[in-house]
Amino acid sequence: MTTAPIRRIDLRGAPLDPATLRAAVPRADLDVAEALEKVRPICEAVRERGTAAVLEYTERFDGVALASVRVPAQALADALDGLDPQVRAALEETIRRVRLVQRSLRRQDATTQVVPGGTVTERWVPVGRVGLYVPGGLAVYPSSVVMNVVPAQEAGVESIAVTSPAQRDFGGLPHPTILAACALLGVAEVYAVGGAQAIAMFAHGARDEAGELVVAPVDVVTGPGNVYVAAAKRLVQGIVGIDAEAGPTDIAVLADDTADAGHVAADLISQAEHDVLAAAVLVTPSEALAAAVERELQARVAATKHSERIRAALSGRQSAIVLVDDVEAGLAVVNAYAAEHLEIQTADARDVAARVRNAGAVFVGPHAPVSLGDYCAGSNHILPTGGSACHTGGLSVQTFLRGIHVVEYDEAALREVAPHVLALAQAEDLPAHGEAVSARFPAP
Ligand code: NAD
Repeated sequence: MTTAPIRRIDLRGAPLDPATLRAAVPRADLDVAEALEKVRPICEAVRERGTAAVLEYTERFDGVALASVRVPAQALADALDGLDPQVRAALEETIRRVRLVQRSLRRQDATTQVVPGGTVTERWVPVGRVGLYVPGGLAVYPSSVVMNVVPAQEAGVESIAVTSPAQRDFGGLPHPTILAACALLGVAEVYAVGGAQAIAMFAHGARDEAGELVVAPVDVVTGPGNVYVAAAKRLVQGIVGIDAEAGPTDIAVLADDTADAGHVAADLISQAEHDVLAAAVLVTPSEALAAAVERELQARVAATKHSERIRAALSGRQSAIVLVDDVEAGLAVVNAYAAEHLEIQTADARDVAARVRNAGAVFVGPHAPVSLGDYCAGSNHILPTGGSACHTGGLSVQTFLRGIHVVEYDEAALREVAPHVLALAQAEDLPAHGEAVSARFPAP
């Protein structure tokens, strides 16, 4: 007898409150909270000892003894020269589509006239310097260079640095396709550092043993990564801004019996391919679809390249086929789960998708697989994981901007509102607040 590739969770007849549903469909065993304890000493060592600590951790985790963390300019130029023309064309098209979307998303400054002579303007101002993480442990992610860099460029960030793990097979440099993507986008400051040590290096900056500043600290760190990268981002948040905890990938598919079981299985596998901690969840009211997807998974997992990693992800407690009473109940499940990627493959996919409250990105209908969004849809693939989609959105141009309120009132406008300021200052027992206004209008 062959074992099922993925477990089943039967929620037919279960109560549909979010807390119950969240507990019923759990996340992976190793979560960000647990990884925090592992990365805390790494981040502290980098804060205290700078590049010396970064180099030590690179040797320990990536097996590379680097002389320097910085990627030389010549290596970037060489990588672009050596880039496969087909990959270059694909990257250029991805850049074009992502830029098109991000440019249209950039918020414009807005001025509101509150009263005659009194205005509030919201100015959207880019942060000065950003550190962008591009993963490179189990797979190679030039697409993540695009997803990070293009929004930062569209925001108008002046100083952009990228980091990606050193690769033993490439002389201690990040993967050449990642370097080529950086060169294609005109990013010249690139580091060969991965994991928590890279996040700490950006957050704190890093000096060498002679005290020279090798990496200037950044204002915002973004980018996807494994659970250690996500944990390090949680740790340094506050010292720097972050985008989202874009950790190990998850996909949920809400499908009924109109869905193609082969396509559903292929999509679940495509995300399980990222990491043994990746989650793949099918939510369906259809027993027939559940059984057909199980059969498709058996066949397809055996035939694909990273079958071992995929099997581990699918058989982990974070992956499941969830049976529900109907699509309505399925919606309650996926809203409680707050997937990073949510596919809707139901008869009335558009209507169902319109009722999704919590997801990093929603893929609607039979022709929008998640891997389209991973590369070429124009949407961003750096998305909140682990259920954080219930409070955070994916990376966008807005991640790199801050809205600054600029207040301009003339004398008449201030005089008109002065009694209200005085009343509230008194109510809050902060009389000096009121005095700052009344000082401008001394009694005759
Ligand atoms: P990675 O670059 O994220 O991680 C590799 C680094 O992890 C190494 O350089 C090493 O320093 C560190 N590391 C490895 N084992 C460690 C340990 N035991 N303790 C401390 N540090 C350790 O690359 P990856 O591992 O291939 O992971 C990529 C991840 O990015 C996957 O989980 C994938 O699902 C995720 N991802 C997420 C999104 C998103 O938007 N959420 C998008 C793309 C990829």
